[in-house]
Amino acid sequence: MARVLVVDDAAFMRKVVSDALVSGGHEIVGEAGTGIEAVKRFQELSPELTTLDITMPDKDGLAALREIIALDPAARVLMCSALGQESKVIESIKLGAKDFVVKPFQPERLLEAADRGLWAAPEDDTLEKLRATYLELEGDLEGQADHRPAG
Ligand SMILES: [Mg+2]
Repeated sequence: MARVLVVDDAAFMRKVVSDALVSGGHEIVGEAGTGIEAVKRFQELSPELTTLDITMPDKDGLAALREIIALDPAARVLMCSALGQESKVIESIKLGAKDFVVKPFQPERLLEAADRGLWAAPEDDTLEKLRATYLELEGDLEGQADHRPAG
């Protein structure tokens, strides 16, 4: 169980992420709605896990990730991607993010990714494997024509 910082510019999505993590026994220690705020809150709170949206105003998730990893190379960050952001997700993993989910995700998938982000070594995954996983997740979502957050 981890102390988690939840970052997304959509309040609705912060609630979805927080509710899923709390249901898995994690504790939400803070939230941020922009990239700049995310880096600030990360420094203040030293969370054990940070979930990071990619598309945000002022500083996107990749820029925030770079700064967070520079502050703490051991930071555990889980990316929350929207559909169609494969290249950014791959880049975030190269930069040091531990795992990712594609919105809209099932709560179980987020909890699995949180566990992997906390305990697993992402180096075990080749980029090709990650890419395949990403495309598979997107494929699963393509059948769902209902609510799709814009990112
Ligand atoms: Mg967003």
